[in-house]
Amino acid sequence: MSSELRELYQEVILDHGRTPRNFHKPEGANHHANGHNPLCGDRVTVHLKLKDDKVEDVGFEGSGCAISMASTSLMTEVLKGKTVTEAHALFHRFHDLLTGSEDSAGDAAVDTDDFERLMVLAGVREYPMRVKCATLGWHTMEAAIGTEADKVSTE
Ligand code: ZN
Repeated sequence: MSSELRELYQEVILDHGRTPRNFHKPEGANHHANGHNPLCGDRVTVHLKLKDDKVEDVGFEGSGCAISMASTSLMTEVLKGKTVTEAHALFHRFHDLLTGSEDSAGDAAVDTDDFERLMVLAGVREYPMRVKCATLGWHTMEAAIGTEADKVSTE
C-alpha cells in the first residue's frame, strides 16, 4: 500500500471516527442488538429497519475507539438498501479482509464499489487487537438481523 493511500485511509477513518454517520436510531427500526468489545471497551447498539428481507434503514449508537466507530459508521453507509443476503456476504468479505482468510463462502455477490469503501480498514489486519474493534459493529449487525422483529406497536 502506498503511503499516500495509507494517509487517505487514515483520514477517512478519523473523519468517520469523529463524526459517525447514521449515528441514531432510525424511525421504524425493528431489529436491534448490542455489541461489546471488552478488550478495548467499545460498545455499539445497531438498529436495523428490515422490510421484505431488505435493509431499508440502519443506524447505530454507542461509544468506543475511532476504529470501532469508523467501521460501524462505514458499515451503515454501505448496508443501506442491501438485502439480508448481501449484508451477510459483505460481512464475510470484510471479515476475510481483516483476518487474512480467503476461504469464506462470502465471495459471491459483493459489489466492488461497496467493498472498496470498506478497504480503508484493511490496514487494521496488521494489528490483531484492533480487528475486534473493526468487526464489532458487523458482528452486532449480524446479531440484529437474527433477532426477531419487534412487535408492531402503536406508539
Ligand atoms: Zn476499539
